[in-house]
Amino acid sequence: MKSSNNNKTLGAVIVCAGKGERTGLPYNKVLHVLGNKTVLERVLDTFCECGFSRIAVVASADDISRITEIVSEYVRNGVDTAVTLGGNTRAESVRNGLKACPCDIVAIHDGARPYATKELVLRTIESAKRYGSGVAAVRSVDTVKRRTADGKVQSLPRNELFNMQTPQTFAYADIVSAYSGAPDTVTDDAEAFELWGGDTVLVDGEYTNIKITTPADLGFGVSASARIGAGYDVHRLVEGRKLILGGVEIPYERGLLGHSDADVLTHAIMDALLSAAGLPDIGVLFPDTDDKYLGIASAKLLADVVSRVKDCGYGIGNVSAVVIAERPKLAAHIPAIRAALAASLGIEVADVNVSATTAEGLGIVGNGEAIAVNAACVLTERTDR
Ligand code: MG
Repeated sequence: MKSSNNNKTLGAVIVCAGKGERTGLPYNKVLHVLGNKTVLERVLDTFCECGFSRIAVVASADDISRITEIVSEYVRNGVDTAVTLGGNTRAESVRNGLKACPCDIVAIHDGARPYATKELVLRTIESAKRYGSGVAAVRSVDTVKRRTADGKVQSLPRNELFNMQTPQTFAYADIVSAYSGAPDTVTDDAEAFELWGGDTVLVDGEYTNIKITTPADLGFGVSASARIGAGYDVHRLVEGRKLILGGVEIPYERGLLGHSDADVLTHAIMDALLSAAGLPDIGVLFPDTDDKYLGIASAKLLADVVSRVKDCGYGIGNVSAVVIAERPKLAAHIPAIRAALAASLGIEVADVNVSATTAEGLGIVGNGEAIAVNAACVLTERTDR
């Protein structure tokens, strides 16, 4: 009787034994940090959601202790993991990984592809259960040509071409047999499978499922994870208060009323940052019912917000704000405001811009009773730790 597909044990081999010299990093690219996690942790996070009973990570001798440290966190989370030493070629590394990962269906994945989604991994598993293989691939977008041995360039029919990705998922026994006879020159698992006589079944891959290879690919992660934030604030202008905007005191006969120094510009920027990071707003974090914040310089609160945003793993890309005030005229103060905000935010002045406008005499801002600010920011994931 045929055993149910649902009883098949799932294993994964994550290949991390390369040097990754083309990225220009002084360390293995799988150890590169995107946001608050390494490339390898992002891969493991996705794979741990896919129902694998065992995950074997293949590492080079140089990285095995650091990779073992990372993988041990997942052991604590109850996932059965192993770290095994790679070989001189990808084929040799995969063979070692397969030995460390006995199962019924095995997904082989490049450790440097952190953007593969859970859905993609599951599609390859489903295909392997049904047809014996499931290999992620996308249609070739670029025209591909080949140069023959005599130096002539030949065109290849683009509509027949696919770019292979991983995961590449197979019945375990088949891919083990395939690799036992495969030459060390195979560049992907499907090639070993095909040489053995297997029929590769292609599964729709994802164009975002890039293999981090060049320095430009490291930037891909940053832009793909950028987050936008919006903030707004308004404060009433009253006699007998200082006017503080962006941490700078602006000479004027009135100032903004509030529990803190009422720096409406800094408040709007803080809310933009917190919103982008998915954190609660300043009304929640620094309630005006708490005397701790009575008269406090908002620049201090901004420093606190910046450290909270960084703790979430984000960097600040840029900040942009518009101050809406009938009076005073702000143009002459904007360079000082930008410099003060850049210092508090820990970014370049070029990445902080503030513009000023009026409300054309309309409403409480237009009649000079209040100043309002709209702010926006972009957060990027940190790549510096
Ligand atoms: Mg406020």
